[in-house]
Amino acid sequence: MSIDIKIPFNKPSLAGNELDYIQDAVRRGHLSGNGPYTKKCHALFENRYGFKKALLTTSCTAALEMCALLADIQPGDEVIVPSYTFVSSALAFVRQGANIVFCDSRDDHPGMVETIESLITPRTKVIVVVHYAGVAVDMDPIMAIANRHQILVVEDAAQAIESTYKGRQLGTIGHLGTFSFHETKNVQAGEGGLLGINDERFVERSEILWEKGTNRAQFFRGQIDKYTWVDTGSSFLPSDLTAAYLLAQLERMEQIQQERLEIWRRYEQSLEPSPSIPDFATNNAHMFYIVKDSEQQANSLIQACTSAGILAVTHYRCLHTSPFYRKHHASQSLKNANRYERCLVRLPLFCGLGIDEQNRVIEVVKKAS
Ligand SMILES: *Cc1c(COP(=O)(O)O)cnc(C)c1O
Repeated sequence: MSIDIKIPFNKPSLAGNELDYIQDAVRRGHLSGNGPYTKKCHALFENRYGFKKALLTTSCTAALEMCALLADIQPGDEVIVPSYTFVSSALAFVRQGANIVFCDSRDDHPGMVETIESLITPRTKVIVVVHYAGVAVDMDPIMAIANRHQILVVEDAAQAIESTYKGRQLGTIGHLGTFSFHETKNVQAGEGGLLGINDERFVERSEILWEKGTNRAQFFRGQIDKYTWVDTGSSFLPSDLTAAYLLAQLERMEQIQQERLEIWRRYEQSLEPSPSIPDFATNNAHMFYIVKDSEQQANSLIQACTSAGILAVTHYRCLHTSPFYRKHHASQSLKNANRYERCLVRLPLFCGLGIDEQNRVIEVVKKAS
């Protein structure tokens, strides 16, 4: 029997001037990367979040790959990454030859544990912090450990736009921060990402890696009279059409956040609340999830939703038990990550999800609990 899904898990939507800006970009005749809309997005992020430099990328994955290059990862270097995260948080570093050392999730939250000092060795080069569901990891202990051992901190803030830790925007605390504008994130461009640079040392090189290892950006600023191949890199920059779409979303960021928060709060008032938000963190309503007591309970909740035409879904498969990682590494036990893999269920949450649909989700989830 095929089930008719009436309430999807996610649905991208226009927030404002997306189509006008795309038309304007076409009219201006600059469709390739680093055009007028890209520059506007960079300026917006540099002003709003205070990055030393902001660079749009084709994805958060690409921004993480740039981090691996900037960190100068060499084969055998170690990178600490939570197991309960998206593949790219680890993969971007694996491509440069890194060995990944996985850490567990917190007991009370799927976000990573802060007690990672025992995982550090002389080969540790980077700690990748993932702000799960846009809720901050406790950054002070992590930064203290990193500074003590002279390790770089990359914040994978893919889900964390407009969310803060002790009043500071996530992605601006570590040496480097990355964001995603994939259509499943709060602010969308289909595919897209951002690298935010907080450490002055990486500013100049980042621009070169971004444009295929050339000093093209300096050339266009008139700082040199010919541009040439000076470093490694790739084509990390998105088309100006992507930036045009993104700018329109960024201009409506407050409305997007407000609408998502209203849905989140309506869910929270009626359903067993997901793990509470720590005092040092804010909630950007990226995700509403429920952690059930067992895998069986999680499955029956998903089943009840599916039967009612609602798409509720689990989230990550742990990376430390993935087929790719297990090919090369012995098994280990990360108790909390395993539990979230089995017991966490996410509910539909997107701009345009109507009140009737929200009420329907609440009714079905309540009945199944
Ligand atoms: C979505 C996501 C990514 C990947 O983002 P893309 O833009 O699709 O590459 C990476 N890390 C986390 C935590 C994510 O949620």
